[in-house]
Amino acid sequence: MVDLLPGALQRWQVVEGMAREHFQRSGFGEIRTPLLETTDLFCRGIGEATDVVGKEMYSFQDRGDRSCTLRPEGTASVVRAALQHGLLSQGAQKLWYAGPMFRYERPQAGRQRQFHQIGVEWLGAERSRSDVEVITLAWDLLASLGVGGLQLELNSLGSAEDRQAYRAALVAWLQQRSEALDPDSQTRLSTNPLRILDSKNKDTQALLKDAPTLADALSDASRERFEEVQRGLTALGIPFRLNPRLVRGLDYYSHTAFEITSDQLGAQATVCGGGRYDGLISQLGGAQTPAIGWALGMERLLLVLEAAAQADPHGVAARLTATATPDVFLVNRGAKAERVALGLARDLRARGLRVELDASGSAFGKQFKRADRSGAPWALVLGEEEAERGEVRLKPLKQQAEDSTIALAPVAAIVKKLLTP
Ligand code: ATP
Ligand code: MG
Repeated sequence: MVDLLPGALQRWQVVEGMAREHFQRSGFGEIRTPLLETTDLFCRGIGEATDVVGKEMYSFQDRGDRSCTLRPEGTASVVRAALQHGLLSQGAQKLWYAGPMFRYERPQAGRQRQFHQIGVEWLGAERSRSDVEVITLAWDLLASLGVGGLQLELNSLGSAEDRQAYRAALVAWLQQRSEALDPDSQTRLSTNPLRILDSKNKDTQALLKDAPTLADALSDASRERFEEVQRGLTALGIPFRLNPRLVRGLDYYSHTAFEITSDQLGAQATVCGGGRYDGLISQLGGAQTPAIGWALGMERLLLVLEAAAQADPHGVAARLTATATPDVFLVNRGAKAERVALGLARDLRARGLRVELDASGSAFGKQFKRADRSGAPWALVLGEEEAERGEVRLKPLKQQAEDSTIALAPVAAIVKKLLTP
């Protein structure tokens, strides 16, 4: 688990702010659910045979002897909340969330035990065009952040019946070759055979080249649905690559599954993943309701954003993640000057300016060095002389120009001066 420090958090806030605006424009409302849920929710919602539930959950008994779990993902909680508050009786719900998730994984670059997701869930989304809209939402958000090198990968998992038929065919095929499978995949053969498809083991991947594919097992209706989604994306000019191995880690997906990967991330390449989960809501006790959603990993997105900013120092990503500089640096020294400076900083801040007030009391020379380093375009200088006369000296830091002197009151005149380019 990692601490987030001011430098990183500034970029973080930019991304979250853009996401928030993006969702508002698209008619999604924010939802916040507790970090802690009953363990049972994830066992029912995600499935016992998944890595997330089987190996990665932080679960413990609370003082009332209930089994609790720190949420490993957002979807099950959002569906629980929607059911508990009867939201679905008011029609379809377009929701988004942002916050920490917890998984007991091996920490490495782009993989933490506490990480953060931004996600959307559209509950009651039935038609294939909602798949297109939801994928577009993710694609456009990432594009608006100026990150290039993204790849949208797409697959269809078909209906529950398609998957059942495919599972049987795949298991039969793999059972004849089970000695060639890695040990993890051998276990999955009986617990979660579809997950074998995205095994990271090279020999297993080589073996799978000739295995039956999900695409062959799709019913006509499922295939037509998948083609509609592809046509919709093409019509919007969103490029994608079909990936028949893309199965996603959680049990509840059906039909459309997708991931957005980046060429900047090495092994942990997936920034955003999602898909359709038509079975989940009824599985958690609601009426049969189709739904689709995605979640993106904040830490991975920030890695991509930093790479983009470095690759193009004048691009969108660089602009978005630039450290904010103060509007003015306030140099001040001497008992009266320091008192006046505190009040002046307060007045300027109240008028919306970003003011760096030197609090050191050190020599003017040192303060001016700090003023230069701050990146502020102006310094305001208050010594004992200025304070006595009720004035402040205005010193341009970015351009060759003379200092000028300006009265301390009214402060509006100072603001006007500082904001004049
Ligand atoms: P992976 O295959 O990388 O483990 P996943 O399929 O488990 O990903 P999802 O459950 O789909 O991931 O979560 C959506 C996104 O959340 C991922 O694409 C990734 O960006 C991010 N994410 C998932 N697990 C972690 C983690 N442990 N640390 C950082 N980010 C993560
Ligand atoms: Mg994972």
